[in-house]
Amino acid sequence: MQHTQRFQSSAASAVIERVETFLLDLPTIRPHQLSMATMNGQTLMLVRLYCSDGTVGVGEGTTIGGLAYGAESPEGMKLAIDTYFAPLLLGSDASQVPAIMAKLSKAIHDNRFAKCAVETALFDALGQRTGLPVSQLLGGRVRDSLPVAWTLASGDTAKDIDEAERMLAQRRHQIFKLKIGRRAVADDVAHVAAIKKALGERGTVRVDVNMAWSELDAQRGLAGLVDAGCELVEQPVASAEALARLKGRFPIAVMADESLTGPASAFALARVAGADVFAVKIEQSGGLQAAQQVAAIADAAGIGLYGGTMLEGAVGTIASAHAFATFRNLQWGTELFGPLLLTEEILAEPLQYTDFQLMVPTAPGLGMALDEDRIRYFRRDKTQVSVGGISMPAPVTQ
Ligand SMILES: [Mg+2]
Repeated sequence: MQHTQRFQSSAASAVIERVETFLLDLPTIRPHQLSMATMNGQTLMLVRLYCSDGTVGVGEGTTIGGLAYGAESPEGMKLAIDTYFAPLLLGSDASQVPAIMAKLSKAIHDNRFAKCAVETALFDALGQRTGLPVSQLLGGRVRDSLPVAWTLASGDTAKDIDEAERMLAQRRHQIFKLKIGRRAVADDVAHVAAIKKALGERGTVRVDVNMAWSELDAQRGLAGLVDAGCELVEQPVASAEALARLKGRFPIAVMADESLTGPASAFALARVAGADVFAVKIEQSGGLQAAQQVAAIADAAGIGLYGGTMLEGAVGTIASAHAFATFRNLQWGTELFGPLLLTEEILAEPLQYTDFQLMVPTAPGLGMALDEDRIRYFRRDKTQVSVGGISMPAPVTQ
């Protein structure tokens, strides 16, 4: 009882005193080709919330190819947080995460990625304050590690096969997702068939079309993919209605990704049985708790779950891992490989990828620490720091 009272009083005394945002530019290990963009690097927007009890929570907002994927860019998230989020956050009770998120949702339309970054930082700080990992704050974990798929997206069949063989040999990945949709349907299907044939039963093959196909393309493509031994196709078409029409026509799982933009869209898709699987992403959902709501809707509708990525760096990846660790069902594993696509480590201790799984940290909060020297080195703006929306010279550090 005494302990509870102490917790309540210390939790109530923590208010948000300072909001810091900055961009990190990190190179990728190879060009990453998607139907809508080719990535040679990744930009992470990090937000840090400094609280009056000394805790500092960190969160990440990241997307794919600037504005190629959605309406939020890392630069736009930074601007939105500095200008519109920060005044609402400053002075708020840092421990009341749902109350803060409700306040933000009322004042700020959409901006799901930026909201996710802020909610991550709030949970990280709350975890440090209470000594609990974020997964515990989210209700408790069902698993301590997560299967991680690897995306083959070099654009070259032979290179992709070599890459898959290396991943199998290292016991890092045995689920492979192929990015297709840039070439003619028949060429893409041949690419998938060649890779599946090379891997045989040692690896499973899935594809992500990133909405590039027409419905007719998809009908031809799905038939070919079934013959190629592909087990799942992710967002072959743009519209949710077309996705629903394709589901069940071929013996291959149809997964919704871009169509899923939070709990309301999940409910709409579930009502029409519009997908076999949901690719849940914390940023697309609008935060960790929203991602849990999407998972609950999927469970209620008998839809399978897959933990997706926006190719987040370490912070967003670990935040996702904490959320996915709490899902009762995670039938299709995850694709939390974002940090492995980057050449540079920004954590004091790298994340653990072992035996085809990512280990979910057990330390308080997100359970990781940034390498501050490397953070400083990769900041886009090394001489200016934005604090609560005001730009000022960065402190000189040795
Ligand atoms: Mg996708």
